[in-house]
Amino acid sequence: MQKIYLDNVATTKVSNEVLTEMLECYGDTFGNPNSLHSFGRDAAALVDKARDRVANLINAERSEIYFTSSGTEGNNWAIIGLALANRSKGNHIITSSIEHKSVIEACKRLERLGFEVTYLPVDKTGLVDIAKLLHYINHKTVLVSIMAANNEVGTIQNLKAISKIAHEKGVLFHTDAVSAIGNFKIDVKDLEVDALTLSAHKFHGPKGVGALYVKKGVRIDNLIVGGGQERGKRAGTLNVPQIVGFGKACEILQQNYIIDYKKVKYLRDYFVNSVEKEIANITINGHLHQKTPQIASISFNNVDAEALLTLLDLAGIAVSTGSACDAGSVEPSHVLIAMGKSIEEAQSTLRFSFGTNNTKEEIDYVVKELKKSVEHLRSISPLRAKK
Ligand SMILES: *Cc1c(COP(=O)(O)O)cnc(C)c1O
Repeated sequence: MQKIYLDNVATTKVSNEVLTEMLECYGDTFGNPNSLHSFGRDAAALVDKARDRVANLINAERSEIYFTSSGTEGNNWAIIGLALANRSKGNHIITSSIEHKSVIEACKRLERLGFEVTYLPVDKTGLVDIAKLLHYINHKTVLVSIMAANNEVGTIQNLKAISKIAHEKGVLFHTDAVSAIGNFKIDVKDLEVDALTLSAHKFHGPKGVGALYVKKGVRIDNLIVGGGQERGKRAGTLNVPQIVGFGKACEILQQNYIIDYKKVKYLRDYFVNSVEKEIANITINGHLHQKTPQIASISFNNVDAEALLTLLDLAGIAVSTGSACDAGSVEPSHVLIAMGKSIEEAQSTLRFSFGTNNTKEEIDYVVKELKKSVEHLRSISPLRAKK
């Protein structure tokens, strides 16, 4: 049976070029980059090269990139570190109600430490309410953190407008760009962000490595303390092979992103058009235009999404009910609920996410299987009588 992977927001396959560079590091260049001898220097040179590649991708300076263990760590660090470093100014933070759990849970931790957090509402399409941002921002606000693109529905926020409002009030702006990178060009100078989170495994780099961009001059407390690595801001021996893989993934993305963007968007749009033609009573979620090319979030009336996922899995097709971190939980997606969906609608929603490795033939097969499975589940649905 063929296996088709349509869960590229959960993670992606490491590309061969990335793997080749990583494997080289596991050989002779095993030194600790902080050691003073030649083994250390060789490893440090590889880390420097990777840091430049990451910095180039987002138009940052090398000295503004700090390697982390994940997007999750980057988000934790940005939220907690920026809030604590600026506590003398105030104790209020603004974020949105559709953030990744690594932002929301970091905010909750700050609430337990005496901070006040405003979770901004979003509209039906997933866009943050800018009027509410203007309403809630005040002299005690130290940080606004709004994700660049949502990982469940793909909606892209009006980042420049948000950063402008924050900066006019003298407030720092952080964005979680983990599911945006690879979908559109991110330029930290153009967006005027103070901090930005990246993770390698969402664009064909390895899992377990990411970076936090922190603009020169912005104060941030450490999240992880210990040795003096990363200019004293993030302790722990650097994971050189992972960092090298991350750097290579950034370089490849920078060279290919327009071609990749077009290919992935073509596949996604072809899929959505075919599904709309073949299957009745569905809703396409997220913003119509302002959305990443990668994602199709679809609600199937009268269908239990988990049952549908299982049937597709049996046909060799991998999709998701939402965020991979929340899979297995009984709670409906907080993102879909924040967008005004009912619990039933949220639980009838699947996320299909496309990548450069997918083909049009795969999409044809998926649409055929999807139609069959949806029709089957609807025919046995206890809710059918209501329709
Ligand atoms: C995947 C993801 C994260 C977490 O990154 P990890 O490297 O998997 O910890 C954070 N935010 C968003 C939007 C994501 O999609």
